[in-house]
Amino acid sequence: MDGRKDPVLILNSLRSLYGRGVYPGRADNMGAPLWEDDPFHVLITTVLSQRTRDENTRVSAESLFGAYADPASIAAAPLGEIERLIRKAGFPHQKAMAIKEISRIIAEKGKVPADIGFLLSLPMVGRKTANCVLAYAFGLPAICVDTHVHRIANLLGLVDTSRPEDTEEALKKIVPPELWRDINSLFVRHGQVICLPRNPRCGQCPIREQCDYGQSR
Ligand code: SF4
Repeated sequence: MDGRKDPVLILNSLRSLYGRGVYPGRADNMGAPLWEDDPFHVLITTVLSQRTRDENTRVSAESLFGAYADPASIAAAPLGEIERLIRKAGFPHQKAMAIKEISRIIAEKGKVPADIGFLLSLPMVGRKTANCVLAYAFGLPAICVDTHVHRIANLLGLVDTSRPEDTEEALKKIVPPELWRDINSLFVRHGQVICLPRNPRCGQCPIREQCDYGQSR
């Protein structure tokens, strides 16, 4: 990262544009969701959000939680029924198996612990999902690195990494911990509105002055 870049300034500029963000499937422009904003529902919604768009996550989460609202009822639900309810999110068999097993484990445990080691032991929960739960459900300092965060942090020149795990570590070294939880929501929103994956709209971008890619165009 070169000396002229200020991650705090970048995040503040994005926050003035987008406000405070929300986790996948709970975007402001979709209205209030049906489910509670608690760790279990954030966890399941984040699993649903893997490899699909926010609209599909939202529809699937509403179908699932509309039929089965708590860990015990999802754990007891027939697998085929869960698959049917979440079909829009894609990979219904794989996601339904993971969601049913996660629900069984959480029902036994009584609650979702704010423990990254435990979260990483669950099916279909990698660092991105675990950090998303810690940041959005528990308000803890964690950086959820999805494709938008990884891509935009590299375009900006804040990091020079090829793997999301390395992006997480590199960002932790340059961003104050109190801002870690905002990175995902702000970069995701930026990636959806201006820094589009195929054709970033650098001409409209408020952080172009701080961006290596934007400066090179
Ligand atoms: S200047 Fe372009 S590449 Fe850089 S963050 Fe903005 S939109 Fe993305």
